[in-house]
Amino acid sequence: SHTSEKVLSVEALTVSFDGFRAVDSLSLSVDRNELRVIIGPNGAGKTTLLDMICGKTKPTSGCVIFNGIDITRLTEHQIVRSGVGRKFQTPSVYEDLTVFENLEISLPRTHGVFQSLTFRRSPEVVDRIHAMAEQIFLIDCIQDRAGQLSHGQKQWLEIGMLLMQESSLLLLDEPVAGMSPREREQTGELLSRIAVGKSVIVIEHDMDFVRRIAHKVTVLHQGRLLSEGSADEVKQDPRVIDVYLGH
Ligand code: ADP
Repeated sequence: SHTSEKVLSVEALTVSFDGFRAVDSLSLSVDRNELRVIIGPNGAGKTTLLDMICGKTKPTSGCVIFNGIDITRLTEHQIVRSGVGRKFQTPSVYEDLTVFENLEISLPRTHGVFQSLTFRRSPEVVDRIHAMAEQIFLIDCIQDRAGQLSHGQKQWLEIGMLLMQESSLLLLDEPVAGMSPREREQTGELLSRIAVGKSVIVIEHDMDFVRRIAHKVTVLHQGRLLSEGSADEVKQDPRVIDVYLGH
């Protein structure tokens, strides 16, 4: 067995909207190399939790610790730079740019890609972009405009863009929504590979998919932690059956 390294801790995180607690004193932690899935009924607070981790929504109280640093009060931009990448349900890629260009513009500025109008792409950068396109199953359409891709391919491209940003924690909101069974299978493989050396948190509804990919599952209900464990453990938890799986 290998030792676990805690990458993210959420401590007593709470947010109220007009007195309504969408997330209510929630604590959890995620390790390096972990693929965590968050499940729960609509309105449970899953999206709001990810919004608070990436700084889009500021908590009323509690904190978010990432790699030992309290990021709760940082701006969204600072949180991205610290290595947290967020993908929303609707893919947001640059439709008029090619797959290659979408990946290229996602490189951190420190790589100097856009420092000059006459910049030349270094062979290392080109290799890296090709390797990423390969990893996200888009090598055969690397010169296509993103607007021409299927919905599933756009989702993959967006994951690739987060990886180019050098995010070490990826927050993915229903990454297989609208995908074909074959694309879902490929996405499962992709997420499992990504989790190696990084941490991934996925919001997902499809329990078969959850079972295939999750190292651990967190179940939310009414903004609180209802249950946590392996997919099989939470599926058998009477509280989870009662509020989520039993309908
Ligand atoms: P989930 O992702 O689990 O479906 P959400 O995090 O989207 O749940 O929402 C949790 C609750 O918080 C819902 O009742 C939702 O209506 C409420 N909520 C989320 N964001 C806001 C907001 N900006 N203002 C008011 N209420 C909100």
